[in-house]
Amino acid sequence: MNRRKICVIGAGVIGLSSAVRIQDKIPGIDITIIADTFSPHTTSDGSAGFWEPHLVNPDQSEEIRKWGQATFDYLLDLVQSQNMPGSINSGIMLFWFDYFTHVLVPAWYDFSIEHDDQMLVPRNELNTTTRYLCCFGAQLVSGYDFSIEHDDQDPFWKDQVIAYRRLEQKERKLHPKNKGGIFYTSLVIDVKSYLPWLMEKFKSRGGKVQFGTISSVNEISDKFDLVINCVGVRAFQLLNDQDVKPIRGQIIRVSAPWIKHFYVDFDRTEGTERYILPGRDYVILGGTGQEGNWSTDINQQDKDKIWESCLNLVPSLKNAQKIGDWVGLRPGRTKVRLEIEEKRRSSGCMVIHNYGHSGAGVTLHWGCAGNVAELAHAVLTTLSSRL
Ligand SMILES: Cc1cc2nc3c(=O)[nH]c(=O)nc-3n(C[C@H](O)[C@H](O)[C@H](O)COP(=O)(O)OP(=O)(O)OC[C@H]3O[C@@H](n4cnc5c(N)ncnc54)[C@H](O)[C@@H]3O)c2cc1C
Repeated sequence: MNRRKICVIGAGVIGLSSAVRIQDKIPGIDITIIADTFSPHTTSDGSAGFWEPHLVNPDQSEEIRKWGQATFDYLLDLVQSQNMPGSINSGIMLFWFDYFTHVLVPAWYDFSIEHDDQMLVPRNELNTTTRYLCCFGAQLVSGYDFSIEHDDQDPFWKDQVIAYRRLEQKERKLHPKNKGGIFYTSLVIDVKSYLPWLMEKFKSRGGKVQFGTISSVNEISDKFDLVINCVGVRAFQLLNDQDVKPIRGQIIRVSAPWIKHFYVDFDRTEGTERYILPGRDYVILGGTGQEGNWSTDINQQDKDKIWESCLNLVPSLKNAQKIGDWVGLRPGRTKVRLEIEEKRRSSGCMVIHNYGHSGAGVTLHWGCAGNVAELAHAVLTTLSSRL
């Protein structure tokens, strides 16, 4: 089986996690990632990294629950682990990626250490710009979601987060319209740091990486036994999948270290959405959810609206320092497509699709990747038995 060749198209959170989990399942497999955008320039990099099945189809709730649960458990393990980057129990672990030597250097940075010779990485190198800080800060985060009113049904993921409950009367006052809602604890990761970490893991096990744009899967199907398609929203162009549509998300990044809770407020009557999500390095203020809009330009009107509506919810944000704006296209689709393509390519190559995760790519990635690894193993087993 190991002589077989696999290609993963895409280096966002879906492509990278699929590649790593295939390596877990089939050690020593010959596997190549091909993509034309890598971290920190993918859509995944810009996401808030927050675990919540956002903008997914409740009709697919059974699978979403399964993939989401696997991802939640995995992220929670990272938070609780003594040995993983970003662990809350172990100080802060830093990985320095040296772009000259291409070596990832793990180093414990313990703030109780006073003498430089006790540190694995000298203190004066901590700010070296050629090195990439890669502590992906998986952490628990609690907060308020005002989108779910008192008379609404609980969301299908209610039991998957921690300490889910309805808001008390006092908490409703936090909302300018005294709205009801829910409070829960979830997880957040810094995706910009997580992706390089996954990439290093992939390469350290012999995974290969190629830069390139694929215009048709057939273009590479004679070079590989199996192709895993993880191209996100661009499945619309690559496969002419008319079910894929961009859901444009514009955000503002601010420095506001006093914001410790998340706030989410999707108002269905007004058709507006706003959210405030604190991460490791900054707070994300959102947002927009514009279906069918392919523009990745910053829209000033959207920007003003996001700023005003977030300030209206949490007035102390007026003291926040603005860091920048960003737009990304969520890969919207009626359902996440995770399946083996029925038709075999003329070269004999098989294709597994893993795209269309909408506003929940980070939330579902590890579970979906596990599913892909199972399918990949099954496909290669079948191919081997045909020899
Ligand atoms: C504002 C915003 C906030 C978000 N916040 C969250 C959040 O908090 N939590 C959450 O779970 N989700 C969030 N999301 C959604 C999440 O970002 C996406 O679901 C996720 O990034 C999809 O990952 P992906 O790997 O499929 O796509 P991408 O990250 O877009 O990666 C696609 C990869 O495929 C490559 N590719 C595409 N076409 C080709 C081709 N033809 N040839 C070669 N390479 C190709 C690209 O170069 C890239 O490497 C957010 C999205 C936005 C826009």
